[in-house]
Amino acid sequence: GHNNAPDYLKGLNPEQRLAVETTEGPVLVLAGAGTGKTRVLTTRIAHILATGKAFPSQILAVTFTNKAAREMKIRIGVLIGEGNVEGMPWLGTFHSIGVKLLRRHAELAGLRSDFTILDTDDVVRLIKQLIQAEGLDDKRWPAKQFAQMIDGWKNKGQGPADIAEGDARAFANGKGRELYKAYQERLKTLNACDFGDLLCHPIRIFRANPDVLKEYHKRFKYILVDEYQDTNTAQYMWLRLLAQRPQGKPISPLEGEIGRSSAETRATVNICCVGDDDQSIYGWRGAEVDNILRFDKDFPGATIIRLERNYRSTAHILGAASHLIAHNEGRFGKTLFTDRNDPEDGKVNVHAAWDSEEEARAIGETIEAYQRQKHNLNDMAILVRASFQMRAFEDRFITLGLNYRVIGGPRFYERLEIRDAMAFFRVVAQGADDLAFERIVNVPKRGLGEATIRQIHDTARALRIPMLEAAAKLAESDELKPKPRAALREVAANFERWQKALETTPHTELAETILEESGYTDMWKNDRSVEAPGRLENLKELIRSMEEYESLRSFLEHVALVMDAEQNAGLDAVSIMTLHSAKGLEFETVFLPGWEEGLFPHQRALDEGGRSGLEEERRLAYVGLTRAKKNLHIWFVSNRQIHGLWQSTIPSRFLEELPNAHVEVAESGNSYGGYGNSYGGGSFASGRGGQGAGRQNPYGASRFDNVGADSEKSGAFSNTYATPGWQRAQANRTEATDRNW
Ligand code: ATP
Ligand code: MG
Repeated sequence: GHNNAPDYLKGLNPEQRLAVETTEGPVLVLAGAGTGKTRVLTTRIAHILATGKAFPSQILAVTFTNKAAREMKIRIGVLIGEGNVEGMPWLGTFHSIGVKLLRRHAELAGLRSDFTILDTDDVVRLIKQLIQAEGLDDKRWPAKQFAQMIDGWKNKGQGPADIAEGDARAFANGKGRELYKAYQERLKTLNACDFGDLLCHPIRIFRANPDVLKEYHKRFKYILVDEYQDTNTAQYMWLRLLAQRPQGKPISPLEGEIGRSSAETRATVNICCVGDDDQSIYGWRGAEVDNILRFDKDFPGATIIRLERNYRSTAHILGAASHLIAHNEGRFGKTLFTDRNDPEDGKVNVHAAWDSEEEARAIGETIEAYQRQKHNLNDMAILVRASFQMRAFEDRFITLGLNYRVIGGPRFYERLEIRDAMAFFRVVAQGADDLAFERIVNVPKRGLGEATIRQIHDTARALRIPMLEAAAKLAESDELKPKPRAALREVAANFERWQKALETTPHTELAETILEESGYTDMWKNDRSVEAPGRLENLKELIRSMEEYESLRSFLEHVALVMDAEQNAGLDAVSIMTLHSAKGLEFETVFLPGWEEGLFPHQRALDEGGRSGLEEERRLAYVGLTRAKKNLHIWFVSNRQIHGLWQSTIPSRFLEELPNAHVEVAESGNSYGGYGNSYGGGSFASGRGGQGAGRQNPYGASRFDNVGADSEKSGAFSNTYATPGWQRAQANRTEATDRNW
């Protein structure tokens, strides 16, 4: 009876409760952000355990991150008492569960159970060897690119035998498939696997060994999956194999047969997936939103439950998010409402700033104002579109002494490309910095092996000189073979030239020159991996940020201090992370900076031209908006500096897609009033015109051209454009439709 319901069920609404209590058969919860999907999954596990329907070891539960898995475990313990949980060995991400399966059955994949998991660097090195062994030119056919292709195939669950002719031809004149095969064989001899194998090996093992699969059919009485909209094809196949018990004929052991619903398989399993098609943001990594949309075809007789009440956000935040996402076509479509109706709740705030430094300063001030009102830093987050945006905030917060943590990635100055670049600069500024020298002496690769580097070391130690000097000496001696000697000679000459230039060339210019002449920028330009464009952006941001310092030395000093700052693990701290890693999380107060065309939506999505890239960006915006419980601040800047030139930017089209009723254009304090000019009301709407208007200046070409050169930029700006821009923007805002705004 309802009244005797255990405590853990009491707070749920009827639909949530239905989703928790419908334990038998397939269930899909398709619902918008903040409606309690994750809460339903957690409570469902608690319910299954509390009613004795299964032991913890008989539940397979998939979360999107390891952090989410840990949190879920804790929550279940809270709901039904820790003693009743006793670990959930099969609660984790697809990858962590995949490792576990593969360790148990490694021999069926030709591996030993102590196999190693290779990281991306290892994989690329291995592929490069194979490419060279084939007698192919690894410049023409870069290993990174092929690693990416393999990853793509594995996301689709395709082994070498499965890949299409055209796909195989796309690399090394049709040798793609052979190389892929050779790669898999090589992994076997190394007793190793890559990330994709963690899913693909189990799939193949299950297909080829029906008895093994059967064992898991018996074991997993209940399967649960969070964030189902972001599963890729391989994950989908893996789930289907575990979830669908064949009746009659066994599932075909043929590789590559996806085995989508067919007469020979019938769902008899208790699988519950929860997701939101509007939050599918990993299409670029092979996720297939279709998986969620055809759930009831895959699992006939599925109960589909919609949750429509949002418990997370204020009516204004929800109204803004719903209105924005309605601009996407091809949605499942759902209603969302909230009972929250607090007249105190503020609207979504949109702020303008001059540039990213101003933006960081203003957000810092806002955070401090919240702090004075007794808000915890833990309840605040800054969600950025691209990681290079983090730098301005990190710098600012360190200046303010404001605790922050970067989630889901290293802090800006700890990133690989930033550390590399800084190493070059350090050697230029301080020739005796051996640690820095060692880091980059062979970056990009110049064929300097370990033996040569040891020789440099030995010489340096024997003569008590820095490694750079030792390298220069060796380059002139005949102790080395011609190739490394030539390489060292170039390195030494480069640094000598740069050190001289330090006295005469502006430091930002020199920094750019160093990265170019050393081949470092080109290294990333030629790199086809998904991270490469982001790394190039970070490098540009690094150069840009140097401008605020007088010299290379003062900049290096600043960074050394920044690097020393604690990561603030247990402390009260503001979170900084990308929108992608914010999925599933919630915060009292959220800041969304950088809403400009070209940054968000990202230029890469605009360049694609099609609808799908832009729609994925919009879903990302929806994810961002819906992370906020109470306070939401969106920012855009009127100028970003790109390649040392001021470029005026256009506010993101997503701003225009926010409804008037829920949005307020904030007059952000004293010093920024003037900047509102930067988007003068209706003007920017017309400047946008077609797709990908990118960085067009709505006011005509030269509006900001001189500003960069003008040291009193804000003065110049407000003198020239002060009135009536801001007022016009506001007037427009109140009377116009959202289209015109
Ligand atoms: P997302 O799509 O962002 O992952 P979600 O649908 O998983 O969101 P949850 O994170 O489970 O939503 O829930 C959002 C918030 O609402 C949480 O703080 C949760 O505790 C709260 N919540 C969910 N259901 C209820 C309820 N019945 N009563 C009170 N609070 C609830
Ligand atoms: Mg969730």
